Amino acid sequence: MLLKDATIATLDPPNVERASLRTEGQRVVERAAVLAPARGEEVVELERALVLPGFVNAHTHLYSALARGMPSPAEPPRSFVEILEKVWWRLDRALDEESVYLSGLVGAIEAARSGTSVLFDHHASPSFIRGSLATLRRAVEEVGLRAVLCYETTDRNGLDGRDAGIAENRDFLASGPTPLTLGMVGAHASFTLSDESLEHLSAAVRDACSSLHVHAAEDRVDVEDCRRHCGAGVVERFRRHGLLGPRPILVHGVHLTEPELRDAQMAGAWLIHCPRSNMNNGVGYAPSQAFRRAALGTDGLDEDMLAEARAAFLRMRDAGRRDALAAAFGMLVGGHRLAGSFFGLPLGTLEAGAPADLVVLDYRPPTPLTAENLAGHLLFGLDRSHVCSTMVAGRFVLRDRRIATVDEASVLIRARTAAAALWERMGAL
Ligand SMILES: [Zn+2]
Repeated sequence: MLLKDATIATLDPPNVERASLRTEGQRVVERAAVLAPARGEEVVELERALVLPGFVNAHTHLYSALARGMPSPAEPPRSFVEILEKVWWRLDRALDEESVYLSGLVGAIEAARSGTSVLFDHHASPSFIRGSLATLRRAVEEVGLRAVLCYETTDRNGLDGRDAGIAENRDFLASGPTPLTLGMVGAHASFTLSDESLEHLSAAVRDACSSLHVHAAEDRVDVEDCRRHCGAGVVERFRRHGLLGPRPILVHGVHLTEPELRDAQMAGAWLIHCPRSNMNNGVGYAPSQAFRRAALGTDGLDEDMLAEARAAFLRMRDAGRRDALAAAFGMLVGGHRLAGSFFGLPLGTLEAGAPADLVVLDYRPPTPLTAENLAGHLLFGLDRSHVCSTMVAGRFVLRDRRIATVDEASVLIRARTAAAALWERMGAL
């Protein structure tokens, strides 16, 4: 396929140029200022539309895709733990196979419509654990995105629930990667896991040569619980159990100290910043100035990385950071580096040989767009309404604003019915 006459912008390093791309199979095979169509080749005229690498959501919960508009608890939650107990832990217990599958489809469609091509998902469905990751993989692959999936292991549903969570991570990893989907080992958070559970998780990571994906110090309660039970911080606790290497994903880090962040990142950890979720839950503001190996996550609010990047930027400005533009832009770049390291692919480059994972935006700026001001356009100009098409591994998932891989209208009809039933089950729990 020839993607003709685009304005191609890549982020790492910032670069903007007028060029055409030729794709073959899952890859970009040629990139040049002018490319002539080959015989029989499909030509997509882009008329200088903006082409960016697909965005990476480094932490999401697809299972929350059917939560939009659900009834609030009768008594508003008063704390972070009450938000979990009254909202999210009731929702995840009410999920069954059908609602997990539809959540995956709906979330992946949302991602495609937002130009997001890679999802790092953190899944929980305590009433349907075994096979849940394969169900999610089926949904995300039907839509056509890349994903790194794991099950968030926790002690809160008893030892059987914990063991089933670890087994689900192990089984999914043992089933092997596909071209679009990988596994890793998931854990909820330090404060819902015993030392014994961390040892089991550590063995699962070690046996599969995998990495941990875990919430870390999202709220003070996680830090206080850790200090009370083991006299150390969350990072030190994970280190003692051999969970800091290789390449763990620590999400939020709101209440990590700068020395803890330095130690974690020196050990190879990635920090995932979720500013909109942190504001929504009122857990505080992460020390993002100390996030060096960092990417952005939506924490399940939606799959819109442009919205998350803008919130990250504004929150950094509000906190007095003068380097906010470069820092928020750098976290979008971090997403490509993180996903690239997991998939072993040069995601984010759009050079010959790179995966054809890209987003086409109908963005006609009123001001010059250059490598020097790309961050300004990304954070002040672009939003998901500009997304026209999203290609993942050489296939259009969204094309000219229509989902090309699944019947979106019928998915939405099924999802609305399943969501109503899900909310009813939640009410009974
Ligand atoms: Zn989360």
